[in-house]
Amino acid sequence: MNFLITGAAGFLGSSLANHLAREGHQVRGIDDLSTGDPQVLVPDVHFTRGDVSDRPKLWTLLQDVDVVYHLAARVSVQESILYPRDYNAVNVSGTVALMEAMRDVGVKRVVLASSGAVYGDLGDTTLVETATPNPRSPYAVSKLAAEYYVRTIGNLWNIETVSLRIFNAYGPGQHLPPSHPPVVPHYLRQALRGGTLVAHGEGMQTRDYIYVDDVVSAMVAAATAPNINGLVINVGSGVETTIKELIRIVLNVTDSKANVVYNSQTSGGVSRMRADLNLAKEKLRFVPSIKLEDGLRLTLKRDARFK
Ligand code: NAD
Repeated sequence: MNFLITGAAGFLGSSLANHLAREGHQVRGIDDLSTGDPQVLVPDVHFTRGDVSDRPKLWTLLQDVDVVYHLAARVSVQESILYPRDYNAVNVSGTVALMEAMRDVGVKRVVLASSGAVYGDLGDTTLVETATPNPRSPYAVSKLAAEYYVRTIGNLWNIETVSLRIFNAYGPGQHLPPSHPPVVPHYLRQALRGGTLVAHGEGMQTRDYIYVDDVVSAMVAAATAPNINGLVINVGSGVETTIKELIRIVLNVTDSKANVVYNSQTSGGVSRMRADLNLAKEKLRFVPSIKLEDGLRLTLKRDARFK
């Protein structure tokens, strides 16, 4: 098949692109390289540097494409609180520009990388796709808006759409910016350096961590699965892990005695997150296969930054 991946030089985009290219598919990628690195792509991926809002470039790249994976986005919850306009411009307007270009060229399916963050804090429940979203950051709002735009424009122009609400993905190659880094690679680095691992509050907030290869399996399935038009589907591990437990596992797999500090002055954000996977199982035949501890060991093994 012919694929276009936006955000192809990023953490999830590059893993997906390399996987599809290795399977023998034709893969084009576009990324503005604001955080991505095209060097991680295998030579068979045809990479173009460009902005996801650049419709003339998209018109060219979309020729003969069967399925678009839309991953290009700004991805930090914390940063989005400071720069909501940027998040709106890239994550919302960029999605609309892509949908317009797909309509113009006549592409038939798009898979949107949405986020479990759209749910916000729904208390003690396992997060099911039918729950009313309660986004708590501009990032989460931008992802929810993107879901609606994709589905609505898709309905109007006969483009099949599916939004995957990905939970906390981790694995080799995850971007590790100096400010507001994602928790998993940040803790791994701190543990290996003998730095301090700081947790918000009592560390009892939970997240659903999913290894990158499992995310890629779900995305691959979404390209061809029947009867998924217009759906949003959770993609997580289905397991909730407290920050405290994550720290214990990180210290164990790194064999580290690094300090741990619980900061009672700060809140850990959303209190509990666990993806309900029934819809993913039914529609994508998706069953996550990698446990957190194993995924962390694979990350250490496969990511040169942790050597
Ligand atoms: P990432 O930052 O590694 O990837 C995003 C890529 O988009 C980067 O390579 C960046 O350079 C590119 N990009 C940013 N703005 C662009 C623009 N205007 N035009 C073209 N390219 C642009 O992040 P990631 O973790 O790989 O996330 C990929 C997608 O998955 C995002 O849409 C994100 O919201 C979604 N997602 C990720 C997670 C996760 O835990 N990693 C969870 C839920 C959803």
